[in-house]
Amino acid sequence: MVTYLPNVRYLCGFSGSAGVLLAAQRPVFITDGRYAEQAAAQVVGARVAIAKGSALAAAAAASTKLGLKRVAVESEHLTVAQLDAFEQALGKGVKVIRLAGAVEKLRALKDADEIELVRAAVELSSRLFRPLLKTLRPGVAELAIAARLEYMARKAGAERMSFETIVASGERSALPHGVASSAKLPSVGFVVLDYGVVLAGYCSDMTRTVHLAKAPSESRGLYAALLEAQLAAISAIRPGATTGEVDRAARLELKRARLDRFFTHSTGHGVGLDIHELPKLAAGDETVLQPGMVITIEPGIYLPGRCGIRIEDMLLVTESGYELLTPVSKGFIELN
Ligand code: ZN
Ligand code: ZN
Repeated sequence: MVTYLPNVRYLCGFSGSAGVLLAAQRPVFITDGRYAEQAAAQVVGARVAIAKGSALAAAAAASTKLGLKRVAVESEHLTVAQLDAFEQALGKGVKVIRLAGAVEKLRALKDADEIELVRAAVELSSRLFRPLLKTLRPGVAELAIAARLEYMARKAGAERMSFETIVASGERSALPHGVASSAKLPSVGFVVLDYGVVLAGYCSDMTRTVHLAKAPSESRGLYAALLEAQLAAISAIRPGATTGEVDRAARLELKRARLDRFFTHSTGHGVGLDIHELPKLAAGDETVLQPGMVITIEPGIYLPGRCGIRIEDMLLVTESGYELLTPVSKGFIELN
């Protein structure tokens, strides 16, 4: 029983906000009256049923009627209350199996159509980068910059942003997740810009860090070291390599520059219908990279109270290595 909506969408195409897919031998998609029309138009590979009451109760009734002995639920996505309600509605003798990550594992490998959708989302967000730079001026609030970006994204056709836009300037650039705030851009210092859009359900994700005014040589040095680390991680991408190896490549490079202790998060993540999905590129993770995986490489360094820098691209793992999807330059940018 698939209840997590991105998984439902992946398996049967339904993009609405309420519905349950019973992925049995003969699959049934259950939703309510509000979505009757949408489900009829979108759902592929499953019979559509419209529930009078809750879709979960209807899924329980359908499971019993189909004579199922066991029903696996998505343990990471079902609330305790939903599980209780589902179990109570199930007929006697039907066992509930708690299963995690089954559909997510399938989603890690993108087919050709999905890759095209990801590509389109990446291209749209990349086109916004130059116009975004024009909005960066000392004294302008981070929120105002995020607002301009999001307006441009919508106008260009984005369904929505793929996550809360990060505009982290000055000291706030040292916050790895510095969502745009009322802070005003300083006259000198780094600005981390991390954003993405959703197009046809698929997400993009990119980060660039630029410098307001002329940068001191120390700041240039930090940027150069981080870029080396990002390039080292990218060079480690190939089918058969593990995610841990790619993560290690970035960390080794930063260690050489004695900056590794300032790199406090993982190196990257998969991107698709969700902004963060499998695989996870983290220390100790042993997932083997395979052609068709779409991942980010995004090392960062964060000097508390001072500044931070992150550079993030999206890449496709290919038969021969990788393809860089994000076309935006990573050269050091000083804005005057
Ligand atoms: Zn990002
Ligand atoms: Zn990311």
